[in-house]
Amino acid sequence: MLNRLAEAIDFSIVNGLLKLNNDHQVVHAPFTLNPYGISRLTLDGIVSLTTPSNQLMLRVAADEDLLQEHLAPSAKTDPFVQELLKLHQVGLGTQDYQLMVTRNDFLLHQEQEAPELLYPKQVEFNTISCSFPFLSARTNHLHQFLYRDDALGSQLVYTDPLIGVAAALAEAIERYGHAQACVLSVIQPDEHNIFDQRGMEYLLLEQYDIPTIRMTLEEIASVGHLHEGHLMVGNHVAAITYFRAAYTPQDFSTKEAWKGRHLIEASSSMKVPSIPMQLAGMKKIQQVLTHPKIIRKFVEEDTARRLEATFTGIYALDELIESRDSPIPAWQQALETPEHYVLKPQREGGGNNFFGEEIVQELQAMTEVERRAYILMDRIHAETHEATLVVEGQTQTTQCVSEIGCYGVCLAHRSEIIFNQDVGYLVRTKSADQNEGGVCAGYACLNSLYLKS
Ligand code: ADP
Ligand code: MG
Repeated sequence: MLNRLAEAIDFSIVNGLLKLNNDHQVVHAPFTLNPYGISRLTLDGIVSLTTPSNQLMLRVAADEDLLQEHLAPSAKTDPFVQELLKLHQVGLGTQDYQLMVTRNDFLLHQEQEAPELLYPKQVEFNTISCSFPFLSARTNHLHQFLYRDDALGSQLVYTDPLIGVAAALAEAIERYGHAQACVLSVIQPDEHNIFDQRGMEYLLLEQYDIPTIRMTLEEIASVGHLHEGHLMVGNHVAAITYFRAAYTPQDFSTKEAWKGRHLIEASSSMKVPSIPMQLAGMKKIQQVLTHPKIIRKFVEEDTARRLEATFTGIYALDELIESRDSPIPAWQQALETPEHYVLKPQREGGGNNFFGEEIVQELQAMTEVERRAYILMDRIHAETHEATLVVEGQTQTTQCVSEIGCYGVCLAHRSEIIFNQDVGYLVRTKSADQNEGGVCAGYACLNSLYLKS
């Protein structure tokens, strides 16, 4: 075990499976020693939902009325949603291309009465700042190395999402058609997941000769300017603005940061994502799309059914849901059985949701108007499995759950889709007694898949 651990850590360092820790030291990113097993049928099932989900989101993002109607109540008590919605209403945009880099996240729900049956259930669909396209490939590479002499090695499922992501960005840049084009990567000032981002930058440069400029929103406000509609940063034109920040209010703690976002939105840069696409990825919209009539406004019956098969119950807090005797508001049901639910605000990036007793505390302190900024989701009981987690050189072997994310890329010109593809997967494995799942937030370890026969 010790040799194997040392071997795994050396390999991860040599091959770029790295992050910065809280003391700003370079350390290996958290990973598992053993991959997670999945059946071919289950994997194919979730992967096949990537392109229809992208298409659904394209159409939802184009529906201004829907975004307005369902997010305006959240905006009343959530200044972050309010600002984004305002930006959308102003309608600064001068770019008809929509470029998407997305990730559809699932847990495999296990029925207690029939544990052999697993049902993929969607946790969320990410339209902004989908992390780990590089580190997931590095983790997969690590597992290929560790299992090179093992039968399991041949069952590992290859993944390298970055190849597809970089190709998508390169094609979009070509369509933008400017000699000084670059990718503008919007970053947080204190980013710990920097190497995941660097991986993409280096691939774009080496393979496509496309430079990336990294800036915070504040820096963009101070350095950037518009020239004939282009967003200029130094001598470069930001043909693509790729957000690895701007999904949390902390990224907008100054007026300058909002100025930066305004500048980006007012330009002809292709935004990954645009404001409406960011709004379409909000948890409130995920909840609204569980209404059979609403999802059918956007996709065909057959697609709606396939997507719905992976939905769990998601409710507005004041919506009436079935209870023992008669329907009661969802929030009251959550007070009675909080262990069956997850309470979520309109936030991304991990660490924002409430579980169990926290739900009771939050709900008791909330006014009716505040309740509109949250959704309630049925808790998914994911299959548990044993795994050895490695965090900064320390191992822990424990019962775990694994969340699988399917990356997709899509480019559309107005409603015409130019490409829409699955580009690979990610697995994050965490101890079964942890509620949240973020790798950078320190809850989960990167993993990869092998096919169970
Ligand atoms: P974020 O946008 O912060 O990533 P998520 O909706 O992905 O928010 O939730 C964060 C984590 O919480 C997930 O990775 C998962 O581990 C856990 N989680 C979220 N929803 C559920 C659910 N319905 N059932 C069980 N766990 C959940
Ligand atoms: Mg998530």
